Amino acid sequence: SGAVVTADMVDDVARKHFPPCMRNLYERLKRDRHLKHFGRLQLGLFLKGIGLPLDEAIIFWRKMYGATMSDDKFNKEYKYNIRHSYGQEGKRANYPPKSCQQILTTNQPGTQDSHGCPFRHFSPENLQNFLISTYPQIDRSSPEMRDIMDSVKTAHYHVACTRVFEVTHGLKKGEGLSKDGESVVHPNKYADRSRELER
Ligand code: SF4
Repeated sequence: SGAVVTADMVDDVARKHFPPCMRNLYERLKRDRHLKHFGRLQLGLFLKGIGLPLDEAIIFWRKMYGATMSDDKFNKEYKYNIRHSYGQEGKRANYPPKSCQQILTTNQPGTQDSHGCPFRHFSPENLQNFLISTYPQIDRSSPEMRDIMDSVKTAHYHVACTRVFEVTHGLKKGEGLSKDGESVVHPNKYADRSRELER
């Protein structure tokens, strides 16, 4: 946190520091060159929170949509929404990035959507496939996977997410985000702690 993230840096920051929900949205955006409304909102506000300024956000989204969208369409339909989420249009509200609680409980994703929390909204099979394809540290039959799926089964999604953080940052079980057992309550906190550990 604090330091500016440019459009060109997002890919690297995503691989090292994005929590699972944002990593999923980012990979879907890369693959499909498209995200539906609530996905754009969830990822866009998170990116604002990690330090992507408005002008870099416009560069980032333009690049991600690529040739699937004309400049004209981008400028007319998408740029406004990006500016709006940065409080530069409409009632100029400064929308904060969404917390885990908000992501878990509001705007429940349908089958065509990519937003939400993978621990809460993916089927167990999709979640396992997502985890093993995203994180080389997590195997299908590992004790870590068992911990994660046990937490999911008992609806302790933040505990499952915290376990992913520990496993992917070389931390022991129970150390949490900062070795005092702190668990994930906000995607931006996940990313901030991850970036702190890298320093
Ligand atoms: Fe994202 Fe929070 Fe779910 Fe982790 S627990 S994937 S940070 S919504």
